[in-house]
Amino acid sequence: MPGTGTSTDTPSPLVTGSPGLDAASLESVPLFDLRVTEDDLQAVADTLRSGWLSSGARTQAFEEAFAAQLGARHAVAVSSCTAALHLAYLAAGVGPGDEVIVPSYTFTATANAILYCGATPVFADVIGLDDPSIDPLEVERRITPRTKAVAAVHFGGYAAPVDDLAKLCEDHRLALIEDAAHAPSATLHGRKLGTFGLAGAFSLFSNKVLSVGEGGLLATDSDAVASMARRLRSHAMTLTSWDKHQGARGSYDVPALGFNYRIDEPRSALALSRLRRLEEEIARRRDLTLRYRAHLSDIAGLSVPFADAAVETSSCYVMAILLNDPGARDAVRLRLRENHGVQTSIFYPPIHLFSAYRARFPDLSLPRTEDISNREITIPLFSHMTTSQQDRVIQAIGYEVRQ
Ligand SMILES: *Cc1c(COP(=O)(O)O)cnc(C)c1O
Repeated sequence: MPGTGTSTDTPSPLVTGSPGLDAASLESVPLFDLRVTEDDLQAVADTLRSGWLSSGARTQAFEEAFAAQLGARHAVAVSSCTAALHLAYLAAGVGPGDEVIVPSYTFTATANAILYCGATPVFADVIGLDDPSIDPLEVERRITPRTKAVAAVHFGGYAAPVDDLAKLCEDHRLALIEDAAHAPSATLHGRKLGTFGLAGAFSLFSNKVLSVGEGGLLATDSDAVASMARRLRSHAMTLTSWDKHQGARGSYDVPALGFNYRIDEPRSALALSRLRRLEEEIARRRDLTLRYRAHLSDIAGLSVPFADAAVETSSCYVMAILLNDPGARDAVRLRLRENHGVQTSIFYPPIHLFSAYRARFPDLSLPRTEDISNREITIPLFSHMTTSQQDRVIQAIGYEVRQ
């Protein structure tokens, strides 16, 4: 291997004290990596030459393709999943004085968008270390006359119990909103996640499964929710610039308070191009995840959430490991990076412990959420990860976690 420092008189600082690793470990393994194909580049270049860059025909084509792939009546493309969540909560009628029950073990946007509506997030604990989804029993305990909606997050692309939650919501006349940011094309009982409630919110953020950079999507079977989302994403105007570009005449009214939550054409073109590879990329993620699970199960000192069987229906967005000793977590992450070049992350620090939320909910404690969050390390996973990269991660974890 030329240029990788195999000469014995120049030992690499990266491999010092790390038996079993060779010079290939000089190259670090990123948590996530993004590849853009020639087709992707061509789709964006064609768009840039088309003479129309805001939302338009390509956005519509992407929406139609996404809705068809999901099996939903409508998909409304927006500027982010956060925007989709905000619109979904508004469509559920969430406003000042209302409560929305939400997990704390998720990205902060799931709860932030409730605050954007002037409503109160009510945090519910997760099921446990094997399944970090929101616990339907905890949700039920927190329902009050002010509850308007329940938000479920499909952590890592694995289905939250949205079948049970949909039933619970129906019984209590609440809206179910799915934060499906991790879960494009994942299923539960053969049905796509993001289609179990009033609306599902998807993300096109740079490191997500269907990544574009910035962007999101609201999926719904409700004509009313879709048309509300379409209006509110563009200032609630009765006529948009795209309508006028296509020949619509006259002035417009603004009958409600809207936003600029539009996506633009280059992003939609890139999303549409990448959507064509989604299934094959997820299939590769599943293979890598099963391989991780098979090898990591031999390592004492850690466990892996979810069952092997759940991998087949997951979009496998992230690979989480849970250390038996939470006190070792920060040191293990540091050694993985410093000694092995393995990048890791934490999914997630609980929202209720962030200072902005601590100020609002100073006494709130969610023992299972805090426990899993303290043990969790997210390790590298992306569809074009090689088995040799994966072997290096497995070896590094085996070495550092056993210590
Ligand atoms: C990434 C993410 C979001 C926000 O997505 P954006 O498109 O960046 O706004 C929301 N919820 C979860 C669970 C996420 O992981």
